[in-house]
Amino acid sequence: MNTAALLAERPVTALRGVGPALAELLAKLGLHTVQDVLFHLPLRYEDRTRVVPIGALRNGDRAVIEGEIQLAEVAFRRRRMLLVRIADGTGFVTLRFFHFSAAQQAQLVRGQRLRCFGEARLGPGGIEIVHPEYRRVLADASGAPPDCLTPIYPTTEGVQQGRLRMLTDLALAELSQGAIQDYVPPGVLDAFDLPSLESALRYVHRPPPDANVTELEEGRHPAQRRLAFEELLAHQLSLRLLRQETDKDAAWSLPRKSDLSERCLASLPFQLTGAQQRVWAEIAQDLERPHPMMRLVQGDVGSGKTVVAALAAVRAVEHGAQAAVMAPTELLAEQHARNFNAWLDPLGVRVALLTGRQTGKVRAALEADLASGAIQVAVGTHALFQEDIAFQRLVLAIVDEQHRFGVHQRLQLREKGQHEGRFPHQLVMTATPIPRTLAMTAYADLDVSIIDELPPGRTPIKTVVLPDTRRSDIVERIDTACRSGRQAYWVCPLIEESDLVRYEAAEKTAAQLAEALPDVRIGLVHGRMAGKQKDTVMTAFKQGTLDLLVATTVIEVGVDVPNASLMVIENAERMGLAQLHQLRGRVGRGSVESTCVLLYQGPLSPIARERLAVLRETNDGFEVARRDLELRGPGELLGTRQTGLMQLRVADLIRDADLLPDVQRASALMLGGPQANIAGLVGRWVGAGERFRNV
Ligand code: ADP
Ligand code: MG
Repeated sequence: MNTAALLAERPVTALRGVGPALAELLAKLGLHTVQDVLFHLPLRYEDRTRVVPIGALRNGDRAVIEGEIQLAEVAFRRRRMLLVRIADGTGFVTLRFFHFSAAQQAQLVRGQRLRCFGEARLGPGGIEIVHPEYRRVLADASGAPPDCLTPIYPTTEGVQQGRLRMLTDLALAELSQGAIQDYVPPGVLDAFDLPSLESALRYVHRPPPDANVTELEEGRHPAQRRLAFEELLAHQLSLRLLRQETDKDAAWSLPRKSDLSERCLASLPFQLTGAQQRVWAEIAQDLERPHPMMRLVQGDVGSGKTVVAALAAVRAVEHGAQAAVMAPTELLAEQHARNFNAWLDPLGVRVALLTGRQTGKVRAALEADLASGAIQVAVGTHALFQEDIAFQRLVLAIVDEQHRFGVHQRLQLREKGQHEGRFPHQLVMTATPIPRTLAMTAYADLDVSIIDELPPGRTPIKTVVLPDTRRSDIVERIDTACRSGRQAYWVCPLIEESDLVRYEAAEKTAAQLAEALPDVRIGLVHGRMAGKQKDTVMTAFKQGTLDLLVATTVIEVGVDVPNASLMVIENAERMGLAQLHQLRGRVGRGSVESTCVLLYQGPLSPIARERLAVLRETNDGFEVARRDLELRGPGELLGTRQTGLMQLRVADLIRDADLLPDVQRASALMLGGPQANIAGLVGRWVGAGERFRNV
């Protein structure tokens, strides 16, 4: 029997105490097998190995205490609660329970000894702990405290931390039978000095009392880095395999066939920059090959990616075939359709916009024209790739603002375009300037071209960093700008709590600004608005019937309003530099000088000050990304995990960026070795949605 694959094959119900009901809850956490339990890693750790004297508790401490109940009573202060006072000779503390059962109440009686864990808070009557975890202990021999740091796991309603700790205990006991496969071959482990999978798992689930908690919580312990390495390696391999497969696919070769692209270039009101020319040449070369182009064009906001995409589309048209341009939102699709039309319609090329909103006869006519090939360039949202849409012959798919689409969508697109055994060329455009090592990992299935030059004549955006106390000056500045016919954005603070809180904050800001600026026409967009509602406001802003747009950070990436020349961003100290740079890119699109005001809530930490200064010093997105990476101190965890670049569980592309060169080398080593290891790794780490079909 192959014991190696055992834990991956044992369902969670094989663990003692796991019945169908619990299994269902665990499934919500993605835990189906015993192996899954082992790969469900702690979020953080608590030190409960030492019992702290109650008298030493300070506001905010999370600690274990032990003492005897002196008093237990049910009180009614607005709501019913159970108050329990315990003391240990050094002081006393009140435990406060809002939810408690009759059985609990019966246990918590005077004289009973308790060991509790929780967060100490300074309450009206001294230190208290709300809903501590607790356990009754005997007066004399209290049970030994745990001999490892206590892991806190990501969980779901109905699954207690204690339960997850029990399950991981059971799973770890099985791990000792050597029942989990280490797919990273020994050669790779040695070459990169990585601990074994078993020891890494043991350590992250049950770190010894002397473990460095800070290091663990920052995800920098070698045990965690081993797992992050493995995860990044799995993604890298999955993408490389995907690429190997697409390289075998056939595509229509699209060499230059007429002077259409030259005529297109000649009719533009500007000349391509050197960078645009270079990237267009790279694309044209790809298009000649009989295999699908898989190319990513990275370029800072405003670098002129669209026109390069239009030139590629022209190649498809020259061959009597079709190109599709997919944008992440309707508004961006409309903007592209307008640009493509302006450039291509004079050449007799039929460009059409397709969105989810078109229905009935209009929709039917568009579908018919797509199927017949009358529409040569189709611009739209993901509606372009719905079931009922058929192209006559799609040979090129262009995807804008790639980071919102995943590998999964790239695959869908490929299937959609299949025609007589050939697949469409793919061109992906993104304004997310990520450093090269990151790009090589996140886009390992793509070739990368970079437009690293802005068109001439742009007035650089002036960025200023100001404390929030200068708010009224800024409001005045908005007034002045809007009075002189210009437009402005106000981006509301980044609040994590919830959509609702975020939206309320934005409403409040909009109301305050409306009061302070009675003559300014103000619009508001936020994430809770329906797409259509949002687009109405954005369109009004675009058309100039609104002067000031108050928004949460949802302002559409890529929206072009050249008349907007002032951008105010609140709580800038809490945002990632890349995000700030993207937001700032909404202005500076016209010829007037634009300003971006970064408001912060003081006091700023030295590192936060330095980070904001980066934006003041440079307008270059790649430089911003590089400095961001450099300055991203530990604890500032706004990593790429949140940006959706990749679906990562353990690794963080930013935090673990230094692993990437090794990951790339390891993947090359493994691609030359047994494929079974690769399939095993990919299966373990890469989500089904992202996974390539054959793996
Ligand atoms: P992005 O790369 O952010 O998508 P766009 O393609 O929207 O940028 O281009 C931004 C603006 O610059 C557009 O108005 C476009 O017409 C213009 N543009 C593009 N290339 C050039 C160029 N070489 N010279 C002058 N303007 C250009
Ligand atoms: Mg764009």
